[in-house]
Amino acid sequence: MDKYSFIMNSINSKRSSEKLALKLSSLLGESRVLVDLDILEQFSTDKSHCEGVMPDLAVRVKSESEIVSVLQLASQFNVPVVARGAGTGKSGGAIPVKGGVVLDLTLMNDLLEVDRENLLAVVQPGIVTGQMQSMLAADGLFYPPDPNSLESCTIGGNVAHNAGGPRAFKYGVTREYVMGVRAVLMGGDIVCPGKRTVKGVAGYDVTSLMVGSEGTLGVFSQITLKLIREPKIVSTLLVPMPDEESAGKAVSQIVAAGMVPSVLEFMDSFIVDVLRSKGVSGVDRATGALILAEVDGDDEASVERLTLRLADICESVGAREILMARHGGEREKLWAARRLMSDAVADTAKHKVSEDIVVPRSAAPELLTGLKRLSQKYHVRLASYGHAGDGNYHVNVLWDDDEFNVSPVVEDVFRLTLSLHGTITGEHGIGLAKRPYLSLEQAPSLIALQQNIKRVLDPRGLLNPGKIF
Ligand SMILES: Cc1cc2nc3c(=O)[nH]c(=O)nc-3n(C[C@H](O)[C@H](O)[C@H](O)COP(=O)(O)OP(=O)(O)OC[C@H]3O[C@@H](n4cnc5c(N)ncnc54)[C@H](O)[C@@H]3O)c2cc1C
Repeated sequence: MDKYSFIMNSINSKRSSEKLALKLSSLLGESRVLVDLDILEQFSTDKSHCEGVMPDLAVRVKSESEIVSVLQLASQFNVPVVARGAGTGKSGGAIPVKGGVVLDLTLMNDLLEVDRENLLAVVQPGIVTGQMQSMLAADGLFYPPDPNSLESCTIGGNVAHNAGGPRAFKYGVTREYVMGVRAVLMGGDIVCPGKRTVKGVAGYDVTSLMVGSEGTLGVFSQITLKLIREPKIVSTLLVPMPDEESAGKAVSQIVAAGMVPSVLEFMDSFIVDVLRSKGVSGVDRATGALILAEVDGDDEASVERLTLRLADICESVGAREILMARHGGEREKLWAARRLMSDAVADTAKHKVSEDIVVPRSAAPELLTGLKRLSQKYHVRLASYGHAGDGNYHVNVLWDDDEFNVSPVVEDVFRLTLSLHGTITGEHGIGLAKRPYLSLEQAPSLIALQQNIKRVLDPRGLLNPGKIF
């Protein structure tokens, strides 16, 4: 496209957005159509390092019929739309790249129904995950997926990214709990894939396709979630290990023994140093890596047995002075290291990029050795922590030089991961951040198939354009 056509296109799209803003203001009221630049700026970022552009407007919807109106009108005016929950995403998924509308779903935050007999809940997409979990827990019900951002992220964002978290090792990720969704397609049609029954195989599994679709196929207006009973007893262990190798051995022996703790988290030597400097308890000079584990269940004796067995395995490969806790406040103290970590690591450098790769669990030692090699090759700090039970590691690249080009490091981390039969993202999605790297993992035919699916649902590519592919 030449410069003149580009400018004319931009002017035309701004005009279309202005007309859309006027229409939506008369329909929803001016207070819910935001055009103030200060506010729009907030909608142009998320918790990734990605840069997008400002939307032309943001719309705060309160109901499914309002989502339908926005997607109908935006289609008519040929204006792109980006659905947005809390904006905690780490791959740039909720950031506009072509202006247009940001559809803010945070006002749709009701827990609509709890079916105690059939163990399910129906929720609106903007409910904050942690708040929903607390409401359900008051009834003894449990929605296990627990992204570390759960105090702020929304269930709609979790479904769009198929969010995981520390408990995924035992309980699985978001996908395992989504029984069905109501989704509004670009243009305003509503589809309702899914069921309220435990089994059901009618037609293609469109619910699964929608989970993890990163806001590119439809906008969730309602989500039906599977629940389980809350485990009565939880026991937490913070295990100081002498080095990363022994931590790796402990993890693989726990997994090989067929034990299924609900949490099995790993923190490397760099992170241990950072935590030690912050005075975190359990992190003394002899600690070279940390494991945080949790065992849960309803039966006192079996939780106790599993906890002791897990501690035995860790001790047999070098752990000392394992800290254990059973009750709320005490357990929270052991989690302090894990919760503090992300910010504490970020504070050690001017720049940080965080990747969320996954390798087969048995490949963890090769991954950690390979990362050390990359750290030396590029003269950067690499700090790794993660859901060791799943083989899902958050690899943080840290550097201070403003001129440093981090892309080759990131690409080498992905190439290392793929050489170990892993995947480039376990939780955060492709979004904008990993878009250049999808073709390292997936063949052109598989990418083309997904693009064709996208075209069927959104022929003009107006819903969250520029993401994934
Ligand atoms: C400190 C921190 C810790 C984190 N820990 C974890 C973790 O442990 N595990 C994990 O998986 N992630 C984690 N994340 C990443 C992030 O919180 C998750 O990806 C979360 O699911 C995003 O939810 P959100 O409401 O913020 O979505 P947003 O960032 O607003 O949006 C994310 C994507 O979802 C789409 N979307 C949002 N709502 C809808 C909807 N109703 N319909 C269709 N599409 C929609 C958007 O278009 C976008 O593509 C963490 C982030 C932070 C900042």
